[in-house]
Amino acid sequence: MYSSKNHPKTHSFDLVGEYKNTIKTIEELEQFIPLTAEERETLQKVVDIHPMAITPYYLSLIDPEDPEDPIRKLVVPSADELSNLGSYDPSGESENTKQSGLQHKYEQTALILTTKQCMAYCRFCFRKRFVGVADNEILRDIKAARNYVQKHTEITNVLLSGGDPLSMGNEWVERYLEAFMSIDHVDYVRIGTRVPVVLPQRISEDGELQELFSRYSTPDKRLHIVTHFNHPKEITPESIRAIDTLYACGVPVHNQTVLLKGINDNPDVLADLFNSLVSIGVNPYYLFQCRPVRRVLHFQLTLEEGLTILEEAHKKMSGLAKRFKYAMSHRSGKVEILGSDDDHIYFKYHQAKNPAHSGKFFKVDRMPEACWLDDFPGWKHGNIG
Ligand code: SF4
Repeated sequence: MYSSKNHPKTHSFDLVGEYKNTIKTIEELEQFIPLTAEERETLQKVVDIHPMAITPYYLSLIDPEDPEDPIRKLVVPSADELSNLGSYDPSGESENTKQSGLQHKYEQTALILTTKQCMAYCRFCFRKRFVGVADNEILRDIKAARNYVQKHTEITNVLLSGGDPLSMGNEWVERYLEAFMSIDHVDYVRIGTRVPVVLPQRISEDGELQELFSRYSTPDKRLHIVTHFNHPKEITPESIRAIDTLYACGVPVHNQTVLLKGINDNPDVLADLFNSLVSIGVNPYYLFQCRPVRRVLHFQLTLEEGLTILEEAHKKMSGLAKRFKYAMSHRSGKVEILGSDDDHIYFKYHQAKNPAHSGKFFKVDRMPEACWLDDFPGWKHGNIG
């Protein structure tokens, strides 16, 4: 369990300095983390393809002497990213795009890609194809997106995503909130953001943003934050303060974690993470199977490994901590990974692209090396789903 006593570092806070001093080059990184000449050359090749950004605050959580440090692996590039295996769009986001930056996959939810930018670039990002790289997929016209949602009365909620929406200025955050919170049939808006984790002061020290959140999150229509803690080391006095600030603004906070090899693929780490999240008031929402994303495959575990780790972790978690679903954001829907017996793995469509499949259970023959639904021959032959 996290205690502020086991967090050794304190930070003198300067928000402008945090932006200005964000680590973006290998030369800057080297001032904090020793690299060999070979590593330097390799990492340069990686950041030429997928940029790096690490806030000074998040960097301070890394132990520079430990190459296995989990925070390091989350944001510092590695040679594994030079592999070209995997797909840049394994969940078929392009098929759900109705206009640039607006996806409509599940009846009730509109997903908006607000920006390509983030405060820190996660090495496991599933939107690596454009995040930090290109503007081509982000929303161009808020008014047109609002009109789409207004016309589609089946949409009850809007998810602002990206990139990280809180990497935009407050004026832009307000434009998005105003556009979608003001639609009668939208019950709530979510902001997907890693800011509480990588730059929590952006929330706890920005009175203007707090005023904005308080104004838009009302008792009958809440703004929700879905954040992204992946390791207990990310729960610090600063991130706790950001969560506390969100609650003071009337904004409930939820968390989704990605199961990542070498970072949180351990029952004790996962149990500590989820129990600690509950203790600071963050609702565990999803544990996602890492998608087969190009340049991210080295983070992926097999489904059987994931189930084994989770089974053990569950034994160490309180009831509130294990409310999350272990799921895969598959092209066909959000597929819950339920468990296995001697012969089969069992799944359920938590949400389905085809509404007729929603809630449907299915099973496949066990296959120890499978990491994704498409790896099972049964799936490939169209026998399930
Ligand atoms: S904050 Fe989200 S969008 Fe940005 S790099 Fe991390 S996972 Fe990707």
